[in-house]
Amino acid sequence: MAFRHQHLLGISTLHPEEIRAILDLADSYADQNRAGGPREKVLAGLTQVNMFFENSTRTQASFELAGKRLGANVMNMAMQASSIKKGETLIDTALTLNAMHPDLLVVRHPHSGAVNLLAEKVNCAVLNAGDGRHEHPTQALLDALTIRREKGRLHRLSVAICGDIAHSRVARSNIFLLGKMENRVRLIGPPTLIPAGAADWGVEVFDDMAEGLRDVDVVMMLRLQKERMDGAFIPSTREYYHRFGLDAEKLAHARPDAIVMHPGPMNRGVEIDGTLADDINRSVIQEQVEMGVAVRMAAMELLARNRADCPREVWA
Ligand code: ASP
Repeated sequence: MAFRHQHLLGISTLHPEEIRAILDLADSYADQNRAGGPREKVLAGLTQVNMFFENSTRTQASFELAGKRLGANVMNMAMQASSIKKGETLIDTALTLNAMHPDLLVVRHPHSGAVNLLAEKVNCAVLNAGDGRHEHPTQALLDALTIRREKGRLHRLSVAICGDIAHSRVARSNIFLLGKMENRVRLIGPPTLIPAGAADWGVEVFDDMAEGLRDVDVVMMLRLQKERMDGAFIPSTREYYHRFGLDAEKLAHARPDAIVMHPGPMNRGVEIDGTLADDINRSVIQEQVEMGVAVRMAAMELLARNRADCPREVWA
């Protein structure tokens, strides 16, 4: 089964075979990126517009580079300084953009569901680059590719996702993806940062790192999403680091070959020890960044192919 969607809005609607199709193509792009040299310009003649309503460094740069490597014309809209500030609604912005006929629209938005809403109003392919605390599909896919390359498989692994689960779109997309591929997922964090109902997601929940990390293959740390907290969720960052920050001592509870991941940006000394984050024998944080470009190349190529197969009026 190939990837048959018009948009990439989340992981929850993908079939395991579609996830595999994206990862297989991304895997070959990762090798090509490492080797360097010319690439087939499969997005030549297409226009990619990046609309980031929320600050981003790595994700925006990664999408930009991915589009350029494949020959797309890439435009970054400065949404912070845009007409949104002048009171334009999201729908009006979408309709204005739509009239310019872009082919690929990459959107990040602070509100959960905003990207799905926008996708209903435009007839180009929309890629969700993170919406509120809802989904961040390319992050979960790049994490999956990193795990698959490091561990040689993406099933029957035990993966701990640690920290601020409640505010994290990265956690949600990863829980969907890892579950669909038949892995065991554990969530570890203070009860204030574990969403109500998490136990119904087919995961195990822990509030103690030593217990939760026991014998896991993968440790995924999350940033404290202070911008999405509207109250005090932790007593202090010092106390948080003491109980939930990953250091060599806590990591010793995981399997000896367990890998350490973080989506970035990292708060060293808050959720992770700086030395551990830089330890190339345990940390795959730089590989995650590398796989991000490959996954975005693959996702945009697959969406562009579907678009080419589909007459324009069907998209309207
Ligand atoms: N970069 C990721 C995101 O946009 C993770 C984070 O910001 O902590 O969701």
